[in-house]
Amino acid sequence: MFKDNGSFCVKPWMFLMLGHNGEISACAKMTTNQRGALGSTKDKTLNEAWNSPAMMEYRKNMLAGNKMLACTKCYNREATNGDSPRTLLLKSNIDKIESLIANTDKDGFNSDYNISWLDIRFSNKCNFKCRMCNPGSSTAWMQDAHKLKKVAGTNQQYGFTEEYLSSIPDKKLDTVNGVATVDYLKENVTKIERINFAGGEPLIMDEHYELLNYLIVNNNYCNLTYHTNMSKLKYKNWNVLDLWNKWPKEKLNIWPSIDEIGERADLIRKVTNTTWTDIEENLKVLTENGFVLEPHITATAYNVFRLPEIIMYFYNNGVLVKERRYANFSIEITYDYQLHVSSLPDSLRNESILKINTFCNTFKDLTGYDVSFRFKHILTALNIPQDIEKTKQLIKFTAELDAIRNEDTYKVIPELEGLKTYM
Ligand code: SF4
Repeated sequence: MFKDNGSFCVKPWMFLMLGHNGEISACAKMTTNQRGALGSTKDKTLNEAWNSPAMMEYRKNMLAGNKMLACTKCYNREATNGDSPRTLLLKSNIDKIESLIANTDKDGFNSDYNISWLDIRFSNKCNFKCRMCNPGSSTAWMQDAHKLKKVAGTNQQYGFTEEYLSSIPDKKLDTVNGVATVDYLKENVTKIERINFAGGEPLIMDEHYELLNYLIVNNNYCNLTYHTNMSKLKYKNWNVLDLWNKWPKEKLNIWPSIDEIGERADLIRKVTNTTWTDIEENLKVLTENGFVLEPHITATAYNVFRLPEIIMYFYNNGVLVKERRYANFSIEITYDYQLHVSSLPDSLRNESILKINTFCNTFKDLTGYDVSFRFKHILTALNIPQDIEKTKQLIKFTAELDAIRNEDTYKVIPELEGLKTYM
């Protein structure tokens, strides 16, 4: 019988992530320095990546119960929340674990090549430039990043160095081992049980539609998960709703990234050629068509004090459903330096803690369900003392981006007025 040793995770026995620069990684939750650790699609097949030195090392450590720096995010979540992606995956795959690890030798070599789950990021093409994102994950960010670099000069800490920015325009997962990516996937997709589409924005990518249509035509209904900004359901001649309506609903996970409502959403996510109204309409269309959505909120210094309002918006608009105990939402915390919640003054963080605790009680009275487990890690982060250096950087970043984008954060998010005392 398998017993959790605190380090073991099923991912290195099931999963590969293909990034938009061709980099192959073992997990999107690992620390960023592990991106591409398994090699590149430009010169490696997926089977070669499967038993690359880094992958074998992960397996070896996990079987031995050695904790790795790479998986710190999961261990931290477990320390504050009890659960993490690692423990949740263990629970949902508990009956498979022994067969998964059966053919793994002492060096971590696994001869089963059971790549059953892929995370695919065809490119960084995106129509949003969310304040907590970057040009590596959004083409719309590029121009602002160049301007910020210019304004902030060498003192800037946003990471938009010339070297970084000049490496981005080539980012596209156009081939895997010399074969066009979609063709490669078509040939290798038959034993895939699960695909995550992320980006950029997958719903404005030709490759996504080509692959999805291929899967439908070939009756290959695996589990699909979408990380989408929910701004476009129609793209060129495609209407994703027509395709999703052909897919078994229980095998479709739609995770819209929604961090705010109304003009606050427009400011934080800065959409181009679309507005919050379009997103709201798309949420309505999908819920009315019986799709269960799981909104993903990224908690930052711009919205952490508004989490109850955002979740009540989902509840009031039928996005949260009883069959999922009204807990079909998820909250991630940003690790961005200046946008981390510890950049906020004590008074605002304490108010946020109080507000979240009160919300959890009233939500339970209203629905009969306790959703407080969704907030544990947020409360832990809010209890971290204010970091004045981060506060100063938040003020600087906000002022510089407001000037570039012709926006006024303090007008749209009046809760941040208190920051001005640190200017
Ligand atoms: S423990 Fe967490 S970070 Fe590590 S591979 Fe598993 S899910 Fe990814």
